[in-house]
Amino acid sequence: MSALLEVSGVSVSFDGFKAINNLSLEIGEPELRAIIGPNGAGKTTFMDIITGKTRPDEGRVTWGEKSVSLLSLSESRIARAGIGRKFQRPTVFEAQSVRENLAMALKNPRGPFDVLFYRKSDRAARRIEEIADEIGLLAQLPRRAGELSHGQKQWLEIGMLLAQDPRLLLVDEPAAGMTPAEREHTTDLLKRAAETRAVIVVEHDMEFVRRLECKVTVLHEGSVLAEGSLDHVTRNKDVIDVYLGR
Ligand code: ADP
Repeated sequence: MSALLEVSGVSVSFDGFKAINNLSLEIGEPELRAIIGPNGAGKTTFMDIITGKTRPDEGRVTWGEKSVSLLSLSESRIARAGIGRKFQRPTVFEAQSVRENLAMALKNPRGPFDVLFYRKSDRAARRIEEIADEIGLLAQLPRRAGELSHGQKQWLEIGMLLAQDPRLLLVDEPAAGMTPAEREHTTDLLKRAAETRAVIVVEHDMEFVRRLECKVTVLHEGSVLAEGSLDHVTRNKDVIDVYLGR
């Protein structure tokens, strides 16, 4: 496992308040990583930095074999470099079918003029079915996305991100509002997605994090408080103090 993303000594302040404070962490490829921490720990700001939405005041964020600095790239360049982000609320095209949603998201492997052709090609059709199978929506391909359950919409959106073949997928609280069965499916889906790429899951639900069976990074006051297995970090005295609010 080699480092895909390296965050080193990053700080960012809002009106003098340090939301991220000398944060350093590395994400491998492939890897599944959970980021947890109390409200205000800096989890959203961290994702905003990685995706180019927020520029840090200091530090380095480098990407890939060539250690390209992400800090000089625009949000759209970062997305094209292979970083996909799933926000909490699903944003699918409700009036279109599941198949059409996935087709629209497919990355065009050639030039922009081939895009319409590619989306209609056999290869694209096969890829759509592969992704639908991966997210558990194969039987739903002809259905309107608006008719899907909340959980299914979340999976469709993850599928739309997978269609763009990201090297790193950031997922914000994927289990929120899901039934226990949907959570279980989401766990499997994320584990499978992380077999071939880096996936970072920001999550509050500890039971969900436990099922991910992955390395956990605990953020607190904009820095890494602890890192390791969930059992390891939840035994850490500082982590216990922070979660119990001492
Ligand atoms: P989390 O996602 O872990 O709850 P955030 O990254 O949203 O934490 O926020 C970290 C801290 O930075 C919080 O105290 C929050 O109020 C503050 N913060 C985040 N974004 C802004 C902003 N745009 N302006 C001012 N303060 C902000």
